[in-house]
Amino acid sequence: MPENVVIIGSGPAGHTAAIYTARANLKPVMFEGFIAGGIPGGQLMTTTEVENFPGFPEGIEGPQLMDNMRKQNLRFDTKIITEDVTSVDLSSRPFKVSSSSQTIETHAVIISTGATAKRLHVPNEERLWTKGMSACAVCDGALPLFRNKELVVIGGGDSACEEANYLTKFASKVYMIHRRDTLRASKIMADRALNNPKIEVIWNSELVDVLGENQIEAVRLKNSQTNEEQDVSCSGVFYAIGFTPNTTLFKGQIELDDYGYVVAKPDSGETSVPGVFACGDVSDKKYRQAITAAGSGCMAAIDCERWLSETGHTA
Ligand SMILES: Cc1cc2nc3c(=O)[nH]c(=O)nc-3n(C[C@H](O)[C@H](O)[C@H](O)COP(=O)(O)OP(=O)(O)OC[C@H]3O[C@@H](n4cnc5c(N)ncnc54)[C@H](O)[C@@H]3O)c2cc1C
Repeated sequence: MPENVVIIGSGPAGHTAAIYTARANLKPVMFEGFIAGGIPGGQLMTTTEVENFPGFPEGIEGPQLMDNMRKQNLRFDTKIITEDVTSVDLSSRPFKVSSSSQTIETHAVIISTGATAKRLHVPNEERLWTKGMSACAVCDGALPLFRNKELVVIGGGDSACEEANYLTKFASKVYMIHRRDTLRASKIMADRALNNPKIEVIWNSELVDVLGENQIEAVRLKNSQTNEEQDVSCSGVFYAIGFTPNTTLFKGQIELDDYGYVVAKPDSGETSVPGVFACGDVSDKKYRQAITAAGSGCMAAIDCERWLSETGHTA
């Protein structure tokens, strides 16, 4: 017998979709992932304090929040499989979702595989990642550790300009590090950054390393024209060099946009294939927040339940 629904991914979107489908008696099966596209629990496993997820007045550590969501799902008997999905077949029904050890047939699929923030993986990055490094200014910029400090944004596109401008609300100064001698951003975003008195662009420069004992204390930069290296003191480093949506599995099977994100109806999560829904960062390049991911997970779950019922797969 095919399953009702298989959920791929275990970030806030996947866990919320699982809680809703489990409580609707759909007995969801979740592949929580292993190493593909992040780790079980998703992007919040790589951060410390989450201060903007409602319900936690003192904030909560990212891994704790995700552990709570997982426990909530186990309470409702979601079947959680700690494996990566290695292939899907959405060309015939029931759909097939496979990992290295099994293939599961299912009437519906909820895709919540998220997106991966691009990072440069400089030598000291792993050691200092939760000690002053981030890939999300909106998420982390207001944390006490970054307030009234000099910060660095890596990148020169629209999101780098947006993140740098945003960080000037809290920082004493923001350096934008850009590889070229002009910003890649649209004119309006570039002008906003260039005219912000708190932002200084360091041109033609690449990040070589991040420095500090227990906390970020400086970045090491290399000038791409002279090859000279310089250290710039700072208390925080924010990557703003883009995201890669985790959609390789679905290429050629459902509609993806030019950037590889799943195209989903904004009010339902429906994709181009009936019975396949998407939620969270895998189909959202605008908000990229835990709460929006969770919200869209709820919508995808409710619409999935309705679809299963309308198509006669469930009572
Ligand atoms: C450093 C950092 C700090 C952040 N801080 C905050 C914050 O304070 N507040 C906030 O609201 N947001 C924050 N965010 C953003 C937030 O983490 C994301 O918006 C949110 O996690 C997106 O949820 P998601 O469920 O869509 O995907 P993700 O969290 O990206 O989860 C994707 C899941 O899919 C799984 N997966 C991928 N491929 C496969 C596969 N082939 N098979 C099985 N599983 C797979 C992964 O293992 C993972 O479980 C932060 C992001 C980063 C990077």
